[in-house]
This record gives sequence, structure tokens and C-alpha cells, in this order.
Amino acid sequence: MALRKLVAGNWKMNGSRAALPEIKAIAAAAAAHGDVDVAIGVPATLITPAAEAAPGFAIGGQDCHWNASGAHTGCLSAAMLAEAGAQFVILGHSERRTDHHETSAEVLKKAEAAVAQGLMAIICVGETEAERDAGQAVAVVTQQIRESLPPASTGATTAIAYEPVWAIGTGRTPSTADVADMHAAIRAELLALLGTAGASVRILYGGSVKASNAAELLHVPDVDGALVGGASLKAADFVPIIEAARA
Ligand code: PEP
Repeated sequence: MALRKLVAGNWKMNGSRAALPEIKAIAAAAAAHGDVDVAIGVPATLITPAAEAAPGFAIGGQDCHWNASGAHTGCLSAAMLAEAGAQFVILGHSERRTDHHETSAEVLKKAEAAVAQGLMAIICVGETEAERDAGQAVAVVTQQIRESLPPASTGATTAIAYEPVWAIGTGRTPSTADVADMHAAIRAELLALLGTAGASVRILYGGSVKASNAAELLHVPDVDGALVGGASLKAADFVPIIEAARA
């Protein structure tokens, strides 16, 4: 059964209040295409202004701590994101796994904390180019899922974003056959871990998605949406991706 597609933007460390008109324009397009779920993960400083600028539209964060409070200078808890107006949080992005040395065990704790606060967790996984060249891509990604995914996950609480590290921000994408193979392997892993609930968890593809390749990528079997970085910053680039997700 085809799942309702989710097209999520990841603004990373980009965007100020001057970008709120882009959020409003994306939210308006999302409202006009009610058959696709649309969301934007913004810098924490923009969660409240973005949520206020686009009521009802899904605004999220890009990380959270697993503790509710405490001596963690510079960190934000899931409850803080929720209070600010977030509806979801992107977790375990490869930039955080690399730059901040985040482990899958930590991503699991973050996801548990996020879900407990009513935030959907978008858990990112993906192999490096060296791992793909060594024939280890599926093994790496399925291990990340086994170690990062809360065991009670359902489609309502969690989505997986498969993002080959070498495709993020590079303009390069895997072949549709490679995307299909990986998403099938991820679906099999989700079913093995979660039972029937594994069928409801959306598997997003991420890595250099843009208007010109979105339709092809978004209609690969078991691709239930996209996580989009650079092409989510401007409504003019992002809205065509939302449109491409429509059946
Ligand atoms: C991302 O950062 O999650 C991402 C997929 O970036 P881009 O679309 O720019 O490759």
C-alpha cells in the first residue's frame, strides 16, 4: 500500500527572519497540495517565528538532547523544541554524525526523547562513498537503523531518511536502481524490527533532490518522500518538488 508522501526541507544553518516569506509561500503551496505532507526543519532561532508565520504548517528542529534539562551548554531538549512550536525533529543527520561525532546509540536516545514529547523523529541514515565502494552500503545502513530506531516506532512517530553521505550537497545521486535496492532493504529491516508497524514508517530519500530529478526519485518503489537540503531554501525551488511527489 502506498504511503502518503512526506517532503521535508532541512534548512541546516541557513535562514533568518528575512526568510519567513519563503516559509509562508511553501506553507501556502502545501495547503494547496493537501495530498502530500510538507515540513521544514529550521534553525532553532526560527522555530517560533516560522510556526507563527505559518500556523498549522509543520515546522521542526534539526537536533535535540536526550535529557529533559540540565548542564548541557548550548543544547536544546525535545520539550524546548515542542514548546517553541516544533512538530518534528531531524535526528542523526550525517553532518551531526560526522561533525559532532554522534553515535547511533545517542540518536536512539534523542529519538526516544523526541517521541515522548510528541515530536515526529526523522532519523537519518546513510553510507559514505568508501562504504558503498566496498559493497557495505546495505550493511551500514541497516545497522544504523537497528541501533537508532526506537523499538516502539510507528509511522505516526517516526520516519527514516536514507541519505547517502556522498550525495548530500554534491549534485550527485544514486541510480534509481540503487535507491530501489536500498529502500527495499530498509523496508525489510523495518518489518523485521517493528512487525506490521514497519509497513507504516515512511522512508524518505535525501541527497541532491531538486526539481529536475524529484519526480523520478519520488516514484521509486518504497520511496515515501524526500529530505531536501539546498533546494528547500526557496519556495521557487521547493514547491516543484512538492508537486513532483503527487501521485
Ligand atoms: C540534507 O542535508 O539532508 C540534504 C539532503 O541536502 P541536499 O539536498 O542539499 O543534498
